Amino acid sequence: MTNADDSVVPAAGDATPMISMHDVEKTFGDLHVLKHIQLDVPAGQVVIVLGPSGSGKSTLCRTINRLEPIDSGSIAIDGKTLPEEGRALAQLRADVGMVFQQFNLFAHKTILENVMLGPLKVRKKGKDEAKKRALELLDRVGIANQAEKYPAQLSGGQQQRVAIARALAMDPKVMLFDEPTSALDPEMVNEVLDVMTALAKEGMTMLVVTHEMGFARRAGDRVLFMADGEIVEDTDPESFFTSPKSDRAKDFLGKIL
Ligand code: ADP
Ligand code: MG
Repeated sequence: MTNADDSVVPAAGDATPMISMHDVEKTFGDLHVLKHIQLDVPAGQVVIVLGPSGSGKSTLCRTINRLEPIDSGSIAIDGKTLPEEGRALAQLRADVGMVFQQFNLFAHKTILENVMLGPLKVRKKGKDEAKKRALELLDRVGIANQAEKYPAQLSGGQQQRVAIARALAMDPKVMLFDEPTSALDPEMVNEVLDVMTALAKEGMTMLVVTHEMGFARRAGDRVLFMADGEIVEDTDPESFFTSPKSDRAKDFLGKIL
């Protein structure tokens, strides 16, 4: 609070970072996958994570909600350090919504049931409340009229929008997206990106691994460029795309643009 650097600029609301990673190290055997990760994401920020295949982007996401344990360092969500295990972990994990490349919907449950399940089981909501909220969210992602169908009856783009609604049903503080459009046919990519753009505009704190550079430039507040388990660049999208600093980022952009 009394920090000289902070005193000139009035704090924009609560200054506690929504995601905070400090000195995070992660190995898989001999492979050092995350190297000394330092990251503070303020509430409402949309962070785009870019980098070549194998650079650690998915592992970064997975450590944030403890799908992967870290070797050392600390990770906090809204100021609360993630515990290793137990009930507290389940609650904190529920604060972090995650959407994967594969939609991972329950095939034998309807769309509505898929969205209601987390609130019923983890958040202990009543059935009527969970249903009302699920229908609102399905409406928001544009598929309320598919609520009674099963996942296989929907297109990939629709299934991914259900997956987003399902994550939102837990009232997460943070949403992580790991290549959410990579498994989709090209004509379905935009319907998913549109939902994500709307979410960003509503102020959701988001971390998005994506190869959609148009979306990254349009919707991102910040770009992290990863290579070999390190955050090599951490800047705004315009600076990253127009004047990348590192050779690795230049090489990466040269290949994809
Ligand atoms: P990205 O998402 O950027 O492609 P990943 O985070 O998936 O990268 O992987 C980073 C590195 O960690 C890769 O070399 C990958 O092979 C390795 N890796 C990822 N998951 C595991 C695992 N469960 N066991 C062993 N190695 C893994
Ligand atoms: Mg990945």
